[in-house]
Amino acid sequence: MGISRVYNFNPGPATLPLSVLQKAQQTFMEFGGMSILEISHRSKEFSGIIKRAETLVREHLGLPANYRVLFLQGGASIHFGMVPLNLLKNRADFSITGHWSKRALEEANHVGETRVIFTDEEGNFTRTPNPGEIKIDAQADYFHMTTNNTIFGTEYQEIPDTGDVPLVADMSSDILSKRIDVTKFALIYAGAQKNLGPAGISLVIIRDDLLEKLPRDIPTMFTYRAHAAKKSLYHTPPTFTIYCLMLVLEWIKERGGIESVEKINHEKAKLIYDALDASSLYEPHADKDSRSLMNITFRLRTDDLTDSFIEGAAKRDLVGLKGHRSVGGIRASVYNAFPIEGVKELVAFMKEFERKA
Ligand SMILES: *Cc1c(COP(=O)(O)O)cnc(C)c1O
Repeated sequence: MGISRVYNFNPGPATLPLSVLQKAQQTFMEFGGMSILEISHRSKEFSGIIKRAETLVREHLGLPANYRVLFLQGGASIHFGMVPLNLLKNRADFSITGHWSKRALEEANHVGETRVIFTDEEGNFTRTPNPGEIKIDAQADYFHMTTNNTIFGTEYQEIPDTGDVPLVADMSSDILSKRIDVTKFALIYAGAQKNLGPAGISLVIIRDDLLEKLPRDIPTMFTYRAHAAKKSLYHTPPTFTIYCLMLVLEWIKERGGIESVEKINHEKAKLIYDALDASSLYEPHADKDSRSLMNITFRLRTDDLTDSFIEGAAKRDLVGLKGHRSVGGIRASVYNAFPIEGVKELVAFMKEFERKA
């Protein structure tokens, strides 16, 4: 039977490579006389899977030996609280570039003192700061940023240099989409459901020195230290989700690694941004120098036009394009697994829609 798949622009959970779904489907039923769902997280088989996942993360990111790789439950949101619980003694500094960094700040406020170093809330988050706008204070316990703003479609083009202040980043929506200098970061966290696999897990990269001292007495489950000491097996992890994540990491490797994935991501984004720049109908949300590679946001003149754009696109099997209510309009999320053919279909539809509008 043929498989009918639409082009899925959903912001997350998001499209996964078909080959990954097919492999997952197979092991769902047979994995050494059991299914992948039924094996112990302490079994030899699962041990091989989680080790392979870690190896691939290390390889893709070029991770030095003094960083740990953790797979934890709770999505990205748990780290909004866990990061301050584990790192905040006196004060944490924040760059606020959208909904998710605001959430991270709000949660840190439950734990201790925070300070906002940069915000573009008044401009409704159309940009990320230039390095010169970030004044790092050596007194801060850490500096928190969101590298890609999923809802607003903006992304840092340059990572600020924070010197000795640990740089903490939420990379939920752009992790492994392009090469980065990981040594600039002390802690990276990312929910899996955008670029890494299905929902239910987060990837954490943490530098060893951050595991040394805990500023307060908190339950073990909330400490990065315990998860690092037990190599993500402090408790039962979501084994099947980790397996799927491993398959996605293998898929990246098969495609030629991050470098080739990045190249295709640039091609995909350029097709859409070029179409936006050539149009008088579509108005991009993000400033040109802050554009996201992963989430491309734009508006049409009226809600009616937006609705008929979404309706017309759906008829062409282009789905998941409705923008977040705080931005309105359209958002095309084109993560690693989103195929360039779907981007070409979208651009063709955009042009046709503009001719008729
Ligand atoms: C989606 C998203 C989140 C929320 O992730 P959960 O896994 O639902 O907690 C946080 N930050 C960013 C940047 C996101 O894109």
